[in-house]
Amino acid sequence: MPKRGETLYRRVMKRIILLLVSLSCLALSVAAADFRAGAAMRVVTPDPLLPVSGGVGPSHPVSRKEGDLTVRALVLESGGVRVAIVGADFLGFPAVLGNKVRARARGIPPANILIGATHTHSAPDCYGFPDGKGGFACDLKYLDMVCAKMTEAIQEAVDKLQPAQLKIATGEARGKIAFNYYAEQLYDPRCSVIQAVAPDGKTIATLVNYAIHPEVLGNGRGILSPDLVGPLYERIESATGGLAIFMNSAQGGMVTADNRGPEGKDLREWSECVRIGQLLANEALRIVHDAPIQAAPELYCAAKTITFPVDSADMRAIMQASPLGYASADPGHVSTQMNLINVGNAQIITIPGEALPNIGYYLKRKMRGEHHLLFGLTNDAFGYMLTKVDFGSFKRYEYVSRTSLGEMTGEILIDEALKLVASCPAPTPLSAAAQK
Ligand SMILES: [Zn+2]
Repeated sequence: MPKRGETLYRRVMKRIILLLVSLSCLALSVAAADFRAGAAMRVVTPDPLLPVSGGVGPSHPVSRKEGDLTVRALVLESGGVRVAIVGADFLGFPAVLGNKVRARARGIPPANILIGATHTHSAPDCYGFPDGKGGFACDLKYLDMVCAKMTEAIQEAVDKLQPAQLKIATGEARGKIAFNYYAEQLYDPRCSVIQAVAPDGKTIATLVNYAIHPEVLGNGRGILSPDLVGPLYERIESATGGLAIFMNSAQGGMVTADNRGPEGKDLREWSECVRIGQLLANEALRIVHDAPIQAAPELYCAAKTITFPVDSADMRAIMQASPLGYASADPGHVSTQMNLINVGNAQIITIPGEALPNIGYYLKRKMRGEHHLLFGLTNDAFGYMLTKVDFGSFKRYEYVSRTSLGEMTGEILIDEALKLVASCPAPTPLSAAAQK
């Protein structure tokens, strides 16, 4: 019954408005329901094996391998936005290489391709560190092959794009996994997981974001290896059937694997990589297990170029000497890409290096999603990133200060990240997304 006094005109208008509202809801659900995901990987273990690098300086010869080095791509798509998240089993993967991949990859804007390194300390040098004998530690032919395989993995992931839903969760990874070598408890035990699941329930990919140095084996054992990340991939893949991808986080100064044995002696054994990798994998799977399904997650990607002064003479010398061709018009500065991604109710920011854990905590606290992921060593890896008050302070920080671009690196990183967060929309909260 029409309310008293309601005119025919009003009733008609009401009907039209209702119709328009339901049509726009329909349009929204159609737009959001087109969320798709695809994933693929390539093995990039050098054959024959190559020396491995755990940091600045000459590489170390190896006689065998444990596990394979891989490059892995997870491509997400929604509402016309496409993003590739790439993980690579190296110490760092500089943009001078990543940009070759970005230039070759078809169907994804270069600015939407995020390339992170796991930071394994037992893989070939991707920087071109001086070898101490007037030459360089990197093998350019091998690096070309890695770039080609990475492009292939991205392309295959694009080709495999299929309707998907997401599960996203954050929780504390329990057990003997990581600790801070400089100050035991100063690390972030939170592990965030993004899992893409097909409508039939099959897992497409599981992304694990956690801060740790994969340096159980290190570079001195004569072994080439993805370190603990290899067993993590294997455990997740055997449990879910989908691809596993690991993105490191704010693990600088000095969040490392807890491979302390009796009397505090490091256990530099493959069995320890297996123990820690499987434990972290099991924890990630436990954390994401009961996460609610996000049936129609929205996807947003922003990128900006950020610039750091290179105050460190050592870092400047490495960049200028490298055969990879970092040389820019201004050797006193480096520029790189910083990304912000909103996916479902999560927000992701990339860090082009090894931020100390206090910076990680601070950024996560200022981000605007319901889950906050930091992809460390992503798009570039310029060494340690400390705040100005940490820089050159404790004796313990001598090494991380020396292996940093300069005193203002951390400040610039924080400032640029906060500006990016402020200039981008917040991810849609789960409760709001459910009503759409
Ligand atoms: Zn490191």
